[in-house]
Amino acid sequence: MYIQVQLKDVLERIRAAEERCGRPAGSVRLVAVSKTFPAEDVARAVEAGQTVFGENRLQEAMEKMPLLPKGLEWHLIGPLQRNKVRKALQQGFALLHAVDSLRLAEAISRVAGELGVAAPILLEVNVDGEESKHGFSVEELRNEWDGIARLPHLDIRGLMAIPAPAESAEGVRPAFACLRHVRDELAARGPLPLPELSMGMSHDFEVAVEEGATMVRVGSLIFGKRDYAR
Ligand SMILES: *Cc1c(COP(=O)(O)O)cnc(C)c1O
Repeated sequence: MYIQVQLKDVLERIRAAEERCGRPAGSVRLVAVSKTFPAEDVARAVEAGQTVFGENRLQEAMEKMPLLPKGLEWHLIGPLQRNKVRKALQQGFALLHAVDSLRLAEAISRVAGELGVAAPILLEVNVDGEESKHGFSVEELRNEWDGIARLPHLDIRGLMAIPAPAESAEGVRPAFACLRHVRDELAARGPLPLPELSMGMSHDFEVAVEEGATMVRVGSLIFGKRDYAR
């Protein structure tokens, strides 16, 4: 019951946030983040109507996906190593959220070309500018954009960010706004429209919706507290 109730609550809060800021109902998709939770928990969410799931580790996703019904949409939301690109593409993820460097983007384009597909990806942006974090810095992305946009076997749908946690959800608003501004700037430059913005997690997804998210990645609020030792 817990998962169904929580899922319904998150969906209602997304709808309410859409309405508050005048966005059409259904503008924002919920990616239910099932990392560390067993396939049985995902199955509960599927019974409740959820079809889009996010995993952050390739190995864990590959173990879980065969245990669940076909026709679900799986997103890889965590970092991807270059030597695992082929495996990830063969696994059939609907979207790779965390493409965080030009070298990784090039590797994905090359392997996608070999497999005869266009890899659906988002570029991860380090909106806080902290050295230690994953993602393109805003400057890097501006400088490398023309090269990235020209890579032949990528389907670059938009941008993603994991801002540093703040005291309150409001504290993360500037980081979300930053990601949207960067998207708007690159989309204006062309040649790609970059419709998707993947931002917002359990603690701040409503603010992310208000700032233009088209996908929110919510885990613990739906599935419960994570036990990383499991
Ligand atoms: C775990 C994770 C989430 C979900 O986090 P919650 O706080 O549990 O909602 C979202 N995005 C990424 C990249 C994650 O790794």
